[in-house]
Amino acid sequence: MLSIIEAAGWPIWLIIITSIVALAIIGERFWSLRTSEVAPRDVLYTEPKHPYTGALLSAVPIANPDIGRQREAVVLEGDVPSPVNPPSGCRFHPRCPRFVEGHCDVEEPPLYQFGKSQAAACHYPLERWPMTAEEMRRAGSRTSAQPQPA
Ligand code: SF4
Repeated sequence: MLSIIEAAGWPIWLIIITSIVALAIIGERFWSLRTSEVAPRDVLYTEPKHPYTGALLSAVPIANPDIGRQREAVVLEGDVPSPVNPPSGCRFHPRCPRFVEGHCDVEEPPLYQFGKSQAAACHYPLERWPMTAEEMRRAGSRTSAQPQPA
């Protein structure tokens, strides 16, 4: 497949970007058997709510090197937990930069609804986007993004 695309001269980087995000979200969905975030494509790219989505988007290469150099990727630390023995509470909590002890590791987040078309399983959704890694670590400052269970 890759060689066909290369021969056709397609913009491989763009295809890979799309695939990474899509596959990662699908992978997360199947890995944990839980949906992390659901949204139309444009909303997902511009207003992600789940920290995992934000971390993925922060790692997507930007074609403009000037803009790309200004952006800081959010690096997820730790190992992907075992699906055989998933973590308590939010299954993403061992790797989440916004993890809040005593909440995220205790209560599994439901799918919170944001507007009419978006839902994310996170107690401390991203207030805006883009965010730096440091900004993403500041959980608990929910204001306009106060989630309501779907
Ligand atoms: S519920 Fe907590 S651990 Fe899970 S994604 Fe949200 S902030 Fe991170």
